[in-house]
Amino acid sequence: MSHIFPRSCHGSRPVAVSGDGCFIIDQSGKCYFDGSGGAAVSCLGHSNPHVVEAIKEQLDSLAYAHTRFFTSLPAEELASLLIAHAPEGLEKVYLVSGGSEAVESAIKLARQYHVERGEPQRRHVIARRQSYHGNTLGALAVGGNEWRRAQYAPLLVDVSHIAPCYEYMDRSADETVEDYGLRVANELEAEILRLGKDAVMAFIAEPVVGATLGAVPAVPGYFKRIREICNQYGVLLILDEVMCGMGRTGYLYACEADEVSPDILCIAKGLGAGFQPIGAMLCTGAVYDTIAKGSGFFQHGHTYLGHPVAAAAGRAVLKNIIDRDLVSQVRERGRFLERKLRERFAAHPYVGDIRGRGLFWGIEFVQDRMGKEPFPPEVNLANRLQKVAFEAGLLCYPMSGTRDGKNGDHMLLAPPFIASEAELLGMVDMLEKAI
Ligand code: PMP
Repeated sequence: MSHIFPRSCHGSRPVAVSGDGCFIIDQSGKCYFDGSGGAAVSCLGHSNPHVVEAIKEQLDSLAYAHTRFFTSLPAEELASLLIAHAPEGLEKVYLVSGGSEAVESAIKLARQYHVERGEPQRRHVIARRQSYHGNTLGALAVGGNEWRRAQYAPLLVDVSHIAPCYEYMDRSADETVEDYGLRVANELEAEILRLGKDAVMAFIAEPVVGATLGAVPAVPGYFKRIREICNQYGVLLILDEVMCGMGRTGYLYACEADEVSPDILCIAKGLGAGFQPIGAMLCTGAVYDTIAKGSGFFQHGHTYLGHPVAAAAGRAVLKNIIDRDLVSQVRERGRFLERKLRERFAAHPYVGDIRGRGLFWGIEFVQDRMGKEPFPPEVNLANRLQKVAFEAGLLCYPMSGTRDGKNGDHMLLAPPFIASEAELLGMVDMLEKAI
């Protein structure tokens, strides 16, 4: 009997014993194609030798040194590499252990920034419905899934939610894409005005919504308008690229596609490619300087900040992505995958939408294509589909938006960047059989 406390108390899971390229192998020798990269994590596939070597080397020289006393070479080099390729204005990196920690750090930094500027009344965060920002209490509070938050309420952060940019469900037939983008972005302005011009500290959003809706990018112009509104009202823009960042969308930083730079940016998952718990919060020089010239101390930290081994893994992953130009490969393979997904599934009676960027794709299932009517929650189509695919040897990531009764079931595909066209085709074949 297993003594592990699992997330789901129903059923059992096979024991994973090894990983090889795009595959995971279980104890019985069965191979699974990692079509979701775990949860958009394994960008370099499994057991990448450069990353394994970098971790071993770092372990041999130094496993840990507390950041109160020391910085480390891998941490310094990783931060420099991240900034060298970062969107305009981002200058500083705060290395943490994962996505939720990066988001918590971002919320606390935003709060401290306003307090140190003499605006302590700015404590409200605006986020979007159907978003996911993590599972710690602060990150959960800003996340936009009512059912996830409800049982832990009241949560710690003063937060309200506006609509996501979700063209498939929300754009009306007589509205242009541009008008739609402006209309939903303007909800941010309306919410700021409703709360009071100097009450809001930050707006947080995923450039491509991942874990709840399954790879929904914003329409062109949406984030530019969001940036304008944030500038106008002194609200910090936090972009959460924990899932969609690090090359996944065919851009090293997903927000490059939207042509905006945030004040604070969160990354994790792909940064470690599955090797070490790692995440990072990047911020602009202006945000950093406010703290540096004010109290000089960010009132937030963890024991494993900037962990040398995690940083060595992150540095090796990022160097691999850059040196092998995997971002271009993601774009090219992404175009191939998109073509195959549309060929196979666009006309399926239960497929409402196929959307995404790079190697980050979502398929939305609805029971009525014309009316976009979701399946009732008890059908739980995406979960059932995931189980069938798993039996057949394919990992794909289900999201059942129907739990909040507002949208359909979604399946997320996020294969490793190194997947060949033949492997991607095999994934589409397996998914077709499962459907
Ligand atoms: N933000 C986003 C956008 C995510 O997708 C996730 C994880 N799915 C998180 C934050 C939280 O990351 P972690 O699970 O590493 O805490």
